[in-house]
Amino acid sequence: MITFISNLITGDYTVFSEDTPLVNHPNRNKRIVQFFLFGVAIDLLLLIAELAAGISPLEDITRHPWLYGYIFLVTMVAFLFYGAMIGAREDQLEKLALRDPLTGLFNSRYLWTRMDEQWGTGKRDKSESSLVLFDLDFFKRVNDKHGHPVGDELLKHVGQILQHAARQGDTVARIGGEEFVFFLPNTSAKDATTIAERVRNTISLTTMTTHRHQPIKITISAGVASTKDYTATTPHTLYSLADKALYRAKEQGRNRVITSGRSKQEVYKPMEIRA
Ligand code: GH3
Ligand code: MG
Ligand code: MG
Repeated sequence: MITFISNLITGDYTVFSEDTPLVNHPNRNKRIVQFFLFGVAIDLLLLIAELAAGISPLEDITRHPWLYGYIFLVTMVAFLFYGAMIGAREDQLEKLALRDPLTGLFNSRYLWTRMDEQWGTGKRDKSESSLVLFDLDFFKRVNDKHGHPVGDELLKHVGQILQHAARQGDTVARIGGEEFVFFLPNTSAKDATTIAERVRNTISLTTMTTHRHQPIKITISAGVASTKDYTATTPHTLYSLADKALYRAKEQGRNRVITSGRSKQEVYKPMEIRA
């Protein structure tokens, strides 16, 4: 019973706890605050109702402070517990529906929903948003040489680097095996390229060590597109522009960032693969 309650409060879900270090409990925390405010509001309403009925609650409270304190405390504990329970369940459902279980990043379903939402806002504000598609280079070789579990560890590590590079409001998603996406609202293609280049550089400088103490180095390619692109009229066209840029990055030798369209900035880097 105690474990059950503590799991509810901490949101410790066994299915995800090992594989999703990035996931926190936003809904649980939000609901705790909401239910606390709700509980306080209800207590205030009761006091107002007593005043309206001609009963003097303050006199009553000073006469029986322990009784009123006890009632307030029990009400708040009940509200907070219920809020934590509902929020924890929401977090769990959100993880199942919107998160990638391996890395804890968002999945493609969330990405498309977020892009659709931002599309309307961006059009109204006339603000520029950018999309970066990342794809690890020669990832199959890592699996072939070191095995799938090591490949998974590497994916988690890359997921952490990406999450770390993202700012508040950005969406980081894993949309395929070794494919990741940044959706950056209110960000120009130039700034998105700088962010993508920073990620590319960090990954190319990182050496991961396997459980057999073998070093693994990997590189990543990226394609960038922004809504300023004359052809980007829907989220799908934006995606397709970024995908074409990514294809060019692969074609031109990998380990580089290519930006689509008029704000084109091509960053060439020497290839350095030692999987
Ligand atoms: P390229 O530079 O052209 O992108 O080469 P690549 O080898 O990365 O591309 P390819 O699409 O041929 O291979 C992707 C590999 O990713 C194939 C598969 O073994 C691996 N992969 C896909 N999903 C997972 C996963 O969840 N875990 C692991 N360990 N590997 C995965
Ligand atoms: Mg791929
Ligand atoms: Mg790849």
